[in-house]
Amino acid sequence: MKVTFPHMGHLWLVLKTALEGIGLEVVVPPPCTRRTLELGVRHAPESACLPLKVNLGNFLEAKELGADTIVMAGGVGPCRIGYYAQVQREILRDIGCDYEMVVFEPPDVHFSEVWNKVKYLNRRPWQEGVRGVILAWQKACAVDSLEQEVQRLRPCEAKPGQADAIFQRALWELDGAGSRKEVKKIVKKVQGELAAIPRNPNGPVLRVGIVGEIYTVLEPLVNLNIERRLGALGVEVVRGLFLSRWINDNLFKSLLSLPGHHPEKTAPPFLNHFVGGHGWESVGDTVTFARYGCDGVIQLAPLTCMPEIVAHSVMPAVQEARGIPVMTIYLDEQTGEAGLQTRLEAFVDMLRWQKGRKEGFWKTRGKRWGNVPEARITERRSKEQAR
Ligand code: SF4
Repeated sequence: MKVTFPHMGHLWLVLKTALEGIGLEVVVPPPCTRRTLELGVRHAPESACLPLKVNLGNFLEAKELGADTIVMAGGVGPCRIGYYAQVQREILRDIGCDYEMVVFEPPDVHFSEVWNKVKYLNRRPWQEGVRGVILAWQKACAVDSLEQEVQRLRPCEAKPGQADAIFQRALWELDGAGSRKEVKKIVKKVQGELAAIPRNPNGPVLRVGIVGEIYTVLEPLVNLNIERRLGALGVEVVRGLFLSRWINDNLFKSLLSLPGHHPEKTAPPFLNHFVGGHGWESVGDTVTFARYGCDGVIQLAPLTCMPEIVAHSVMPAVQEARGIPVMTIYLDEQTGEAGLQTRLEAFVDMLRWQKGRKEGFWKTRGKRWGNVPEARITERRSKEQAR
């Protein structure tokens, strides 16, 4: 059995470790490129969600490398995620691409089914398998912590691209790590290298939160490397969606005390219930980012993604109530780099202008109050932002 899986950002590293840990031979699909997308678009229905098309391209490319079994996550909810796997299975069969598919539905809904599939795939004694899965989890946490560091660094690097180069190398090193000790060692070394990168003295001026559908947020081919583009424009990106948090929220049912999503607390009164995908989280995260002083939010979604359309419809209310500008970007195979870049530059210009205006306002007010101490002005400003 040669197993493969769909790409989603750095998920390959985690899944590869977990599947090898349970004794399977793994074929990692080649990294997503325009060819992957074109292959998927050629065989998928035009109206299908973009992630379905890219994943289909991954499976076709992995087939060329000899894979014969697909391991992927299913889903439940009001959107199309529930029949993703079935549609892909039919398409692959129609075009004569022979694959066995093992689809993991969410464990809280189909626990016994998940258990049976794990038993079917496992080729090692249980202790060894569990050790492999734990190592995969540790790698997920390591990748996420390093990526956050890179997000902070990008806008203030003296020579752009250094942090990304170090991060890419770190991914390959982490891939080769065989124990928790090695993972820790690599993280420490890479943190040191990142800390030594020369900084631009001006530093970042803007902070922008990224929310949206998980695939478009995590997969750089689909979002056209939006985080790097923002970094080059002097923007620090923050986001709530990370692999380790997604695994903790969805597979471990928030057993570990990681900062996760709590849309039930943050999204109301704008959106009071689950709408599928990450629509509820998009609204909740926007409120959180406004509370923590972000200058703006960018919502990413595949074209026709129902949960994000619902979230998009309440964003104007969030903008008005929380005073945070939100720009929604729908992505599909037609999205061009030049168009995206122009929209980002315009949005960043607008945020910079708005921030300058606010700063000016606070400076004048400080002067008008005469000897009002700076701390008092800061306190008032944070209260205003919290509102
Ligand atoms: S969340 Fe959006 S992109 Fe994902 S399956 Fe549902 S509708 Fe499609």
